Order: sequence, then C-alpha cells, then structure tokens
Amino acid sequence: MISPGRPPCALIWFREDLRLTDNPAVTAAVASGLPVTALFLLDEQSAGLRPLGGASRWWLSQSLKALARDCDRISLPFAVRSGSAGTAIPQTVEESGAAQVFWTRRYSEPEASIDAELRRALDRGGAVVQTFGGRLLHEPSAVRSGSGAPFKVYGAFWRAARSGGAPRAPLPAPAGQKIIAGPRLGGDEIDALGLEPRAPDWAGGLREAWTPGESGARDALETFLQDGLSGYSAARDRPDLPGTSRLSPHLRFGEISPVQLWHASEAALAEGLAQARDVEKFRNELGWREFAHHLLAAFPDMARRNASSRFDGFSWRKPDAAELDAWRGGLTGYPIVDAGMRQLWRTGWMHNRVRMIAASFLIKDLLVDWRIGEAWFWDTLVDADPANNAMNWQWVAGSGADAAPFFRIFNPVLQGRKFDPSGDYVRTYVPELSRLPAKWIHAPWEAPSEALDAAGVELGRDYPRPIVDHAAARKRALAALAQISDPT
Ligand code: FAD
Repeated sequence: MISPGRPPCALIWFREDLRLTDNPAVTAAVASGLPVTALFLLDEQSAGLRPLGGASRWWLSQSLKALARDCDRISLPFAVRSGSAGTAIPQTVEESGAAQVFWTRRYSEPEASIDAELRRALDRGGAVVQTFGGRLLHEPSAVRSGSGAPFKVYGAFWRAARSGGAPRAPLPAPAGQKIIAGPRLGGDEIDALGLEPRAPDWAGGLREAWTPGESGARDALETFLQDGLSGYSAARDRPDLPGTSRLSPHLRFGEISPVQLWHASEAALAEGLAQARDVEKFRNELGWREFAHHLLAAFPDMARRNASSRFDGFSWRKPDAAELDAWRGGLTGYPIVDAGMRQLWRTGWMHNRVRMIAASFLIKDLLVDWRIGEAWFWDTLVDADPANNAMNWQWVAGSGADAAPFFRIFNPVLQGRKFDPSGDYVRTYVPELSRLPAKWIHAPWEAPSEALDAAGVELGRDYPRPIVDHAAARKRALAALAQISDPT
C-alpha cells in the first residue's frame, strides 16, 4: 500500500480530539521523528454512523477552522477531506507515504469497529497504527467490577475508577521547532463541507454565545477557575447564575481533555481558588461523563434501547404534534421549561438543572417516549454527545442503568421557585414575562389579574396557559407506570 520511493511520514488522523495540547496521538507522531502531516475526515458515508445534529455541525465547522489555524502556527500541515473512513484513510496513507498512523481511540459503535477494521487493513498494507487514550480519564475496558463485567451503578464505577489514583500529567502542545513538516495533502475548504446553516442562517445566537476551538476552551476553563469553581457545589444547580463551566461542547469535540481539567482543578485547589468540596463536585461531574462513556462502550445501542427492558412495554402516548411543537418552541405555559427550551434554541446549550426539568416534562407530563426528546437535543445541542445525551435521557426516564426512578416527577413550578428564585433566568429567555414579580413568574396563571395587567401580560395572548395540568398529568404518568410495575 505504501508507495516505494516516497519518504515515509507520520499521519495524525484527528477525530473527536480537535486539540494540540494533551493529545497523546499528536505527541507520539511528533516524537516518531518522521515528517508529520495531519488530517480530519468528515465521514458521512460509513454505514451505521449517526449523522451529527445541526448545532454540532456548526460547532465542528468552527472547531476545524480553529484547529487549522493552530496547526498553521506550528507549521503542521493539516487537511480536511470527506469520504468514508474505510476508503479515504487507506488512500490518504498511500498518497502521503505514511509509514505510521496515529489516532485517539473512540469507544462508540460503529466507530470502534470501523477503527479496528481499518487498523487491520493498514497493518496488512505495512503502515503501523498507533492508538491512544485521550478522550477520557480512564479506558472503559480498564474499569471493571470484580466479576470483570462493566459497572451499571455510578457510585461503584467511580470508586473503582478513582482507586487507580490521579490521572497522568497533561502533555504540552508540540513546539513548532520540533515538527518536521510532512507532505501537504490536498483537501476540501472547510466552508465547502456544508456544515454551517445557510438559508436560513440560524446560527447567530450560537456565534454570540461561543468560541469553538482549543483557545476558546482554554479561555472558558480560565474563566471558570477564576469565577466559577469556587462555590460550584452550590451554584451549579442555579440556572440564573453563571455557576458551571460551560465546557461541555469543548469536551465533546476534544478541544480540551478531562485530564487537563482534572489537573487544573487540582492546581486551583492548591492556589486557594476553590474549596475541596467544589473541586470534588466538579470531578464528580467529570465522573458522570466517564460513566456515560463506559456505559456506551458496553451498551452501544443506549440511544435507542431502554437499559431496563421493563420499559419496553411502557405505553407512551403517540406524540401530539401541537404539544410537541409547544415543548420544542418553549411555549408550554410552564416558564422554567419554556426558558430552557428557548435557551437551547438560541444558544445551543441548556443548563443541566433545566435539562432535567424539560426532559421530565416531555417524558412524564406529556408522556412522550424519551427517544423523541433525545433526538431533539441531539439536533439542537452544541454539546450533543452520544454517551451523555442518551445516558441522561434514560436517567430522567427511569429506564437507564443507574437512573432516577420514574415516579420522581419534577414539578416545574416548585423547581423554578427553588432554582431560579428571583425569576431572572425566566426573564432572560421569556421576555414577555419579564415584568412579572418573582412571586408569580413560575406560575403566571396563579397571578391576580392586577399583577398580570401591571406586567402587561394577557395569558393566552402574550404567553400561553399551561398546555397540561401538572397534577393531572402526574397522575396519568403514575398510572402508566403502574401498568409495567411488578405487583409483587
Ligand atoms: P459542568 O457542571 O461545568 O460540568 C463539567 C462537565 O462534566 C460537563 O462539561 C460535562 O462534560 C460533564 N457533566 C456534567 N454533568 C453531567 C451529566 N449529568 N452527565 C454526563 N456528564 C456530565 N451533556 C453533554 O455533554 N452532552 C449531552 O448531549 C447532554 N445531554 C443531556 C441531556 C439531558 C436530558 C440531561 C439531563 C443532561 C444532559 N447532559 C449532556 C449533561 C449536562 O447537562 C451537561 O453536561 C452540562 O449541562 C454541561 O454544562 P457544563 O459544561 O457547564 O457542566
């Protein structure tokens, strides 16, 4: 496969690791001493791959542009191509004369099988493939219960994962002078890949909210360490406060690694920027991310199949188109749900607490199959992640491996009052209610007419009345649950 006479080079195949710092595959390629060239392949052709959602496509396009700039800065040739991995990667290897190929491992299916097959094909052709961890703190196969089986309970998983001690130290980005530039591959213009919306261009809110790419990720981390980590354990549940890191899309595309976050939080603790409980809580969330990937590696169809087969017999309602539109568009009449769904539509992200409330509303108040919500989030979230999204939807539905019980049904009014006490979050995303006092903002239908008049709100005209009565919907959901419950 490798063309005789061509000087050998090392090929870095970037996938979900769009960074130069703490990227073991990049470090190893540079250390090989060979001239190095790099590739990103937009694979929309391999059988079984789930197409990226719209918001993720926008993010990917920006992230690739940032990576191209970063590679340029250190004189590392970088090309973007499109095609199916099974064909395009061997072709690129042949064309470039790559003697060694470096990549960061993926754990979902069919990605892992595609990689295994490719590795065999490249080996047969004489190219040496070297693969590295880099997406997670721990390889999923390295964290196993006593019986060797994957864990299904978060607490046990995280204890076992942590028993191995702190993760390795992060690797520096390669210095430009260490890189011997390999061949510059021909490729596609990133703008020509069709990743960004054109007509209509709905990405204005995303552009305002985010800076994709490695330096955007570093800045987000720095802001979080300075302003967010201290007090994180309490503020992370408050959508009205900037209490979380907003690093999720950067992690999703591998612009920053969990190893970097682990050590950065350690350093923040040592410098007195945060308390131990905040650092512990933050790491715990990274632990949930690890657990989600661990589950996805063990149960590749987690986005399609209930982990608990009991839920296979659940009688979901056939979704009512008007109700579904109201949920997606933030017009359910429940302000905290609507604020969340509008934050999602405008910025491609929603606060975790509100994700739980909005998901619970769809699944339990509207009795709609969790997979329909998962698919909407998949399309609209900039951090849409095959592991995190599926695990969390199943967590809310009660059908997951280690899930909240179905009968825990969020009351959107009480949740709003508890976690958005002054209503500022609702005011930001549901401006038609912005003049309503905090007392009524989470249940405007309970407000006296003078309060509504004074706030300029006529229910049913300026803002909808609730599309379902929560108390009645709760009873209906529990009755549906009873049908699949074991009576013993
Ligand atoms: P922080 O609080 O700063 O947490 C740091 C990191 O820990 C996050 O960036 C994320 O990588 C990880 N993390 C935090 N909470 C969770 C969690 N519950 N599960 C797994 N990892 C977590 N997260 C995604 O990254 N992608 C998704 O597609 C996604 N879908 C979700 C769907 C639903 C219904 C729910 C309830 C949650 C979902 N989450 C998802 C988890 C969580 O809401 C986001 O990770 C979090 O809001 C991201 O914001 P942050 O980076 O500021 O989080």
